[in-house]
Amino acid sequence: MNASLEILDGRMEAHQAAGLHRRLRDVGQANGPRVTVEGRRVLLMAGNDYLGLSRHPRLSLAAADASLAYGSGCGASRLVSGHQTGHAQLERQIAAFKKTEGALFFCTGYMANLGCIGSLAAQGDYVVSDALNHASLIDACRLSRAMVKVYDHGDAPMAERLLSQAPDGVVKLIVTDGVFSMDGDLAPLTELLAVARRHGALLVIDDAHATGVWGATGRGTLEHFGLKPAGDIIQVGTMSKALGGLGGFVTASEQIIDMTVNKARAFIFTTAAPPAQVAVASEALRLVDDEPQLRTHLHELCELLRELLAAEGLRCASEAGPIIPIIIGGARQSMAVAQGILERGVLAPAIRPPTVPHGASRIRVAVSAAHTAEDMQHAAWAISRAVREAGA
Ligand SMILES: *Cc1c(COP(=O)(O)O)cnc(C)c1O
Repeated sequence: MNASLEILDGRMEAHQAAGLHRRLRDVGQANGPRVTVEGRRVLLMAGNDYLGLSRHPRLSLAAADASLAYGSGCGASRLVSGHQTGHAQLERQIAAFKKTEGALFFCTGYMANLGCIGSLAAQGDYVVSDALNHASLIDACRLSRAMVKVYDHGDAPMAERLLSQAPDGVVKLIVTDGVFSMDGDLAPLTELLAVARRHGALLVIDDAHATGVWGATGRGTLEHFGLKPAGDIIQVGTMSKALGGLGGFVTASEQIIDMTVNKARAFIFTTAAPPAQVAVASEALRLVDDEPQLRTHLHELCELLRELLAAEGLRCASEAGPIIPIIIGGARQSMAVAQGILERGVLAPAIRPPTVPHGASRIRVAVSAAHTAEDMQHAAWAISRAVREAGA
């Protein structure tokens, strides 16, 4: 056997032995509150389609119309010849939505993080980063080749201690998820912003899970905390979760956006997002304002599910919002609980390392405005029975 393949085989065996093997699961044709897994219709409580927009007819129509009118692809990167009127309009719309001077659209949120951090920080610069930040932020920090210091989750005083050790004359960043993707809790933005300002640092907030969900009008975590956009705050967002489509964006001052256009390799060296994707993003932003009842309904369901789980003696690791983690501990035990939940007709996945730390495997339940109160009843029943059955 090929020597390299033999080594790779060994690595996969170890991965499997640790209970960490993953495989793709075909959920049928359509996203929505119900999907087909292994031939069975199940209630989906796994996605990030928080407002249920991925099945909204206005978005499907926007995609079809744009594709018919402008074609299926842009044929080049934005800086070469792929920058169409739709991209320019969308970016003005994003900036207006977020009340910032400028915005830049990326093909995915992952790429927006790579582009954002990569254009702000370079070798020699200094980044302090929350221990539970999303993998795309971690990769972005590594790729930037800046010095990266990790502070304990949500620990603003520790972020400050690390920041105070930064050398003079370098760019300093505090980088954090706004809402943490696997824990559902919020970053202490008021404290982090004060720390950033005391040390001449910039605050980078990845609001992937907050856009459309948090804040009175769905603008995200800054709005939730009553903070205003400013020149020293850079926000990243995604169209891929509550907004029901695909794509990422950075919002910041004109100057920072201009720099990002010039420096972000994840922006420069990739083809412009196709017209359908751009049109969906634009229409989804309008829907956030046109249908605020979706957000109200979502938060009511989240509250209901938390109450139902609490009545079953289950503690959720987050206090509000649609990400409801139930910490189990071991990877194998979490898999057993997830299987028990699935057998009761609900898909709520086990999340294991490396997505979460060792010993902190969990069931991550995600609520959507496409759900109903009855769905919450069913989910609470399935989850509590499965946890009991697994002795977790
Ligand atoms: C999902 C996610 C991303 C990536 O967004 P995509 O648009 O799916 O590429 C970035 N940051 C966080 C915190 C996320 O949860």
